[in-house]
Amino acid sequence: MKRVYNFGAGPAMLPTEVMEKAQAEFLNYQDMGAGIIEISHRSKEFDAIIDRTDELLTELAGIPDNYKILYVHGGAQMQFSAVPLNLINRLPARKASFVLTGNWAVKASEEAERYGTSLNIASSKDQNFNYIPDFDVSQIDPESSYLHITSNNTLFGTRWHQFPKTGDVPLVADMTSEFLSRKLNINDFGVIFAGLQKNLGPAGLALVLIRDDLLDYALPETPGLLNYKTYAEQHSLANTNNTFAIYMMKLVLEWLKDQGGVEKMEAQNEAKAKLLYDCIDASDFYLGTAQPAHRSIMNVTFTLAKDELLDEFVNQAEAQGLYALKGHRAVGGARASIYNAMPVAGCQALVDFMKEFEKSHA
Ligand SMILES: *Cc1c(COP(=O)(O)O)cnc(C)c1O
Repeated sequence: MKRVYNFGAGPAMLPTEVMEKAQAEFLNYQDMGAGIIEISHRSKEFDAIIDRTDELLTELAGIPDNYKILYVHGGAQMQFSAVPLNLINRLPARKASFVLTGNWAVKASEEAERYGTSLNIASSKDQNFNYIPDFDVSQIDPESSYLHITSNNTLFGTRWHQFPKTGDVPLVADMTSEFLSRKLNINDFGVIFAGLQKNLGPAGLALVLIRDDLLDYALPETPGLLNYKTYAEQHSLANTNNTFAIYMMKLVLEWLKDQGGVEKMEAQNEAKAKLLYDCIDASDFYLGTAQPAHRSIMNVTFTLAKDELLDEFVNQAEAQGLYALKGHRAVGGARASIYNAMPVAGCQALVDFMKEFEKSHA
């Protein structure tokens, strides 16, 4: 069997070593005669897994002691509800501020409107979200309970290269499509959340990091299983959690540690993205859609000057084992999602294909 290079935006490829490890342990975990997927979330075997996952996250991401690590049901978009439910009541005005850098930020701001008032601090909608808008932190209404940003914009291929210093207003970041792809100073954030399925594991759960002074503001109507405090107090095991997803994340984190950690991975991610952007910039056949100063190193978006060739481009690529390159309809064109698990060789294979395709269709 030959595994493809999966450029899909999510669920995304996982390291082959991780898939093999999970396969080898699937029927018989540590010789217990049963698999992780079929044993209790309160077993000592699973306890060891979730503890080790916390430890690896703490080490790899540099999570300070005053942050809680939560594994929350419902993926990234459930956090668009959980964040306002838990935080919008921090100040009596019940305001939340947003920087609108793409569809995910827009959705999050719409969801927060159910519980208070969403304020738009800045937006890049005027140019179809192809950049991160500049703004002065003094523009943030001090009555805001928090400021929400999307750190990497999966659809549009942009990312925040630097994060705003928001002072007393906690910064909340949706890092679904880049968590652990770059070094961060966790102290800059009040809350970081990430759906697992892009860089961390399978779909359906979100990893949430929250500074512990922010755990006390949930609205009274917050469902128990969306209340961060429930998760913090019961080690994310108030009910049956998705044990298999947490186990898979542990394997991904072990793999990341073996690769040399986040710093190593960031350098590799930059090199991978550079291969693709250099190829795009050297040709008139391919056109990058994100403004160069705001480009993502996780999602590389581009169009073909001859747009009518797009289907052929995507289909031929797929026939060569370069899977799921079609862009999101909001941007058109193609998108190569190159998360941590995409090897350099995958990006090189794509560049080789792009050059070949250009030559035969110029
Ligand atoms: C994929 C993605 C989401 C949506 O994730 P779900 O788990 O499907 O809800 C939200 N935000 C960002 C930045 C994403 O990339």
